[in-house]
Amino acid sequence: MNFKTIDDIDVTSKRVFLRVDFNVPLTKTAPYTITDDTRIKAALPTIEALRKRGARIILASHLGRPKGGPAPEFSLAPVCQRLEELLGATIEFASDCVGDEAMQKAMALKDGEILLLENLRFHKEEEANDPEFSKQLASLAEVYVDDAFGAAHRAHASIEGITHYLNVKAAGYLMKKELDYLGAAVTNPRRPFIAIIGGAKISGKIDVINNLLQKADAVLIGGGMAYTFYKAEGLEIGKSLCEDDKLGVAKDIILQAMVKGGATGRSPLQLPTDTVIADAFTNDANKKTVSVKEILPDWMGMDIGPDTISMFDNLILNAQTIVWNGPMGVFEMPNFAEGTMAIARAMAEASGRGATTIVGGGDSVAAVEQSGLADKMSHISTGGGASLEFLEGKTLPGVKALSI
Ligand code: AMP
Repeated sequence: MNFKTIDDIDVTSKRVFLRVDFNVPLTKTAPYTITDDTRIKAALPTIEALRKRGARIILASHLGRPKGGPAPEFSLAPVCQRLEELLGATIEFASDCVGDEAMQKAMALKDGEILLLENLRFHKEEEANDPEFSKQLASLAEVYVDDAFGAAHRAHASIEGITHYLNVKAAGYLMKKELDYLGAAVTNPRRPFIAIIGGAKISGKIDVINNLLQKADAVLIGGGMAYTFYKAEGLEIGKSLCEDDKLGVAKDIILQAMVKGGATGRSPLQLPTDTVIADAFTNDANKKTVSVKEILPDWMGMDIGPDTISMFDNLILNAQTIVWNGPMGVFEMPNFAEGTMAIARAMAEASGRGATTIVGGGDSVAAVEQSGLADKMSHISTGGGASLEFLEGKTLPGVKALSI
């Protein structure tokens, strides 16, 4: 997919509609304050570059899931304040993303100045990709820049519709970085290319596993989803997490992987060989490490075991490209975090050896941050859902809309 970046377009003295992903977590009660500003920081390089070049920046984002009308718990006002602190500059704020106030404030911008619009989702037309609303957003600006990779899997007005009404469109640096890393991994990876897929359920990740089985040299499975595979193979899984309605899918995936392995007899699908089981779903439950063939009827699988860790380590340390999505166990409980932390350590070591290591959003990002090794990864995706859809091989509407 070909697209321009902000380095390819003229932005000086132009009103630039900059779609960002400021969907940050806020405290549940007033005064609503930001509990993690990673997403704001991730957009700073693009904002700074546009400012330096004299653009008149109109920032727009969604936050949370308001029900199509204004609600203080979803206001971007706290983001405005945080952005002022981070940039050391005054930011104008429009209490509605369209209408007279937004228009007047956009028109009043001088070179290098910034206006932040209130939550786009206060209008239900945003998610409906309404053409009239898209046109209203477009009328604020002369240039469109999308830096919201985390929302690129949504065909919403500020992402897709607006691009029909602004001729000049480009990707910001964050969008470009995400597409460069994830794009290279799925289209032209340095090999061996391995994918590590974990997390609670198989259901959200079937398409990712299927797509990566075709592209990667190995797909390593961990986390709660592994037990559905074992049950599909006829093993006792006790009280482990299992999606009985996905047993057929799991069987198909195992079969498909065997076909891919062909005459070599080496299936690219690598399931754990041992597991840490517990007698209750709590951190201080009794625990044992057993072969996956020895899971006790009243116990449940909570983490991958040491043999699996060393098998996975070996594959990771011999790979040139590694994509990871989903924890290997219930990493929120320290007694069952070892498998996930071991993967983070192996990924960090692989980076040190020159491999490209990509952490694909969601809980694995939290796990990598918990491990203290986040800065050792080549790339940590800011978009959970978007990176997952990208790894499924889908064309993201936000990326398609930027294409030239
Ligand atoms: P996901 O959102 O699908 O990536 O799932 C992440 C969640 O999976 C985390 O909250 C983990 O605690 C959970 N998880 C990982 N392994 C297991 C397991 N063996 N049993 C239950 N939950 C698990």
